[in-house]
Amino acid sequence: MNNSAFSRVKAKVVRFINEVTRDENGKIKFNKRNKIIIASVIVAVIVVVSGSLALRNTQVMKNLETQSLEANAYKVYFGGVEVGIVRNSQEATQVLQEIQKELIEKNDMDIAIDQDLSFESVNVDEEALTLTEKLKKNIKNNMTYEIYASALYIDGKRIGAMESEEQAEKLLEEVKETYVGRAREEGSEIEEILIVENVEIKREKTPISSVYDYQEMLDLVQKGTTEKRVHKVARGESYWGIANKYDLSVDDLVSANPDKDSTLIHPGDELNLIVPKPYLTVETYENQIFRDKIDFNKEVKYTSSLYSDQKTVQKAGVYGEKEVFAKVIRHNGVEVEKEVMKEVVISDPKVQVELQGTKALPPKKGTGIFMRPTRGTLTSRFGARWGRMHYGVDLASRIGTPIKAADGGVVTFAGWKGTYGYMVEIDHGAGFTTRYGHCSKIYVKVGEKVYKDKTIAAVGNTGRSTGPHVHFEVRKHGVPQNPLNYIGKQYR
Ligand SMILES: [Zn+2]
Repeated sequence: MNNSAFSRVKAKVVRFINEVTRDENGKIKFNKRNKIIIASVIVAVIVVVSGSLALRNTQVMKNLETQSLEANAYKVYFGGVEVGIVRNSQEATQVLQEIQKELIEKNDMDIAIDQDLSFESVNVDEEALTLTEKLKKNIKNNMTYEIYASALYIDGKRIGAMESEEQAEKLLEEVKETYVGRAREEGSEIEEILIVENVEIKREKTPISSVYDYQEMLDLVQKGTTEKRVHKVARGESYWGIANKYDLSVDDLVSANPDKDSTLIHPGDELNLIVPKPYLTVETYENQIFRDKIDFNKEVKYTSSLYSDQKTVQKAGVYGEKEVFAKVIRHNGVEVEKEVMKEVVISDPKVQVELQGTKALPPKKGTGIFMRPTRGTLTSRFGARWGRMHYGVDLASRIGTPIKAADGGVVTFAGWKGTYGYMVEIDHGAGFTTRYGHCSKIYVKVGEKVYKDKTIAAVGNTGRSTGPHVHFEVRKHGVPQNPLNYIGKQYR
């Protein structure tokens, strides 16, 4: 603004002020020209203000327009984590689908990915875009996924999950098959087989790490655990010793090793130490056919040729045989119920005939005459033999042959006596005793009174003996005598 223009405006303002007057009440009064000036100023202000506002709006619009034009790519987020920048959002979606397809093929099962893709528009140069391979890698690195597995529920309790329903069903069949096989081995026929518990298979999203493989699940269902503990048998070990070592009972150890014979273990054998607690009870209804023996009857005949305390078998009995048809219910192979339907006799039993003596017992004291204790062969005489004294005679006969008391008396010894083996000694009075050595069995007790000819023991081969015989001694006041000098003769 130059000086003349400024002075013109100044003159107008001075004139405007001078022309403003006050009325008698002191109120400001404008003349006609002043009013026109004021109105013009107001209009000018409105025009300027609204114009600048409009200009500003246009600028904002223009800016927005510029921005949307420049958004030429998308920032990709996977589960909220930035994984790359792509020109086209379709690209990222395809990569994810590709990964999913690969996982399904690799795991051979349906999978559920836990995260989603999201996008943000951005403006970037070509160099900032992420290569497809890199994008794939980034998505994979941030991925967690579960599979659609088949969970096994037994009486409402979730036991675990397997890959597929077919697998779960196959497993249940195998559990049942186990008992079909065992029943067949025992010759029984399975009429019906069922699982007692309520079993359900449910399709559930499951973390891949907690999906059991087939064998693990089979162990879990049959043993109650997937844990494995074994003991390697060492030389000289027995079931009893091993069970004791692990605080198990022998029965537990047997049930943990159903395929092994508890009486036949060898060093190096591996014994399972986990006592099975199966989740499932397989109930089998079986028709059993098995052979059983039939007891024989006993018939007693009386004879005066034996003393009244003697009894012998004249004719041994024979067991008969029968075929039994039975219905059996088993739980996991253990019989819980049995009903015999029919029995067919294959062979009849044969009666056993026994002889019971009736002859009055002789007095249980010495008669004064010794008899031979057995009818055995004399194999060694009394006297010096191979440089040492033989204090009796040896009478050889089969093991089990009855040894009779040479005379009546009182039993003073009955038991093991060093080189004699099992031995009986009888005191006959008047300083005479007899000894019977190498017995296999002893039928009398110390203090018992016996009569002459009473069976007191059985021939054996115990103690220092090289074959079954009775070593028979006669002693007078403890001094061995030659028995052959006494047998059949009055000794007192
Ligand atoms: Zn002898």
